[in-house]
Amino acid sequence: MIKIEQADRLKQLPPYLFAELDRKKAEARKRGIDVIDLGVGDPDLPTPDNIINKLHEASREPRYHRYPSYTGMNDFREAVARWYKKRANVELHPLQEVVSLIGSKEGIAHIPFAFINPGDVVLVPSPAYPVYAIATTFAGGTPYEMPLLKENNFLPDLSAIPEDVLAKAKMMFLNYPNNPTAALATLDFFKTVVDFAVKHNIMICHDFAYSEMAFDGYVPPSFLETPGAKDVGIEFHSLSKTYNMTGWRIGWAAGNAEIIGGLGRIKSNIDSGIFEPIQVAGIEALEGDQQCLADMRTIYTERRDILVEGLKKLGISVEAPKATFYVWFEAPSGYTSSSFASLLLDKAGIMATPGNGFGDPGEGYVRMALTVSRERLAEAVDRMAAIGF
Ligand SMILES: *Cc1c(COP(=O)(O)O)cnc(C)c1O
Repeated sequence: MIKIEQADRLKQLPPYLFAELDRKKAEARKRGIDVIDLGVGDPDLPTPDNIINKLHEASREPRYHRYPSYTGMNDFREAVARWYKKRANVELHPLQEVVSLIGSKEGIAHIPFAFINPGDVVLVPSPAYPVYAIATTFAGGTPYEMPLLKENNFLPDLSAIPEDVLAKAKMMFLNYPNNPTAALATLDFFKTVVDFAVKHNIMICHDFAYSEMAFDGYVPPSFLETPGAKDVGIEFHSLSKTYNMTGWRIGWAAGNAEIIGGLGRIKSNIDSGIFEPIQVAGIEALEGDQQCLADMRTIYTERRDILVEGLKKLGISVEAPKATFYVWFEAPSGYTSSSFASLLLDKAGIMATPGNGFGDPGEGYVRMALTVSRERLAEAVDRMAAIGF
């Protein structure tokens, strides 16, 4: 036997939030509880048929069975550029300003390796998708948390970042429509971000995972449509949430050519790209029939209304989100994030995510994902009414 010891970077990690939630859910199910899982943000709806059919077709072509190109098929990157032109009136050079990713998580996890040295600071929102801070730490950088507070509409207060932090800051992550708070950014906010980035020489990495999951006619702006955005940053995006393709692992980063190039260099030394039939299916997703988007929005709107109305009747103060499939609200008084999430799981068999799991400023909040049917959401509301709080 040899002594197997994990590297410090692993030893220092908190348990991955969603792995921990999975464990709790499995435990509850073992105890015979019929768990309604509103915990993890993974669409329960299937990938649209036209996309699956394209994968079938393309997977039979031997030319697609070989190593894919590192940076993505030209056809796929051209489709991404056309999507940006159509969706946000943004011009992108498909080969220099777009790189395909094995899901946007992969790109987010790798980008600090391209630009961050030990001692460099990366500005990360909190509460947030955990990968921004973890990837920063893996690359030897230091995350600095920008709290997302209700009084600022869950946008970071850039003027509150101390000068000594700014002097070391090299990169900033942002994510709107936001997970977990469902907050929105305006183009004005993005303009402030671009000016800030120029003034302090900070690269901006905007995560646009929920761009199409928006309701009541709201159309989220892309960071890249902000004047000057391409001089300072990139946008991460993926097919995961838009087309119910979380398991397929396909996404991209687009924007500033030097930043895209750096990310591409890291990737070409680590992975070998995305199976090409998946990229061909990805083109079909972006350019085929878009009825699935309208259907998806209708389904989440109906679910949202059931849950939000139900929570309001129980005396919880909550706003109907205009985007994302998350409902973010303050736990009833007397509860912390964790004690309320535990109450829901133990007494009502409902899995919700404690807000502090996304960072300390999320303390006091709970996130519920609209990833179960209307019937199950109605049942969740009934179960909550039955326990009383
Ligand atoms: C789901 C999610 C992602 C990851 O998406 P993939 O493209 O499937 O890796 C990235 N960012 C946020 C905020 C998410 O919620």
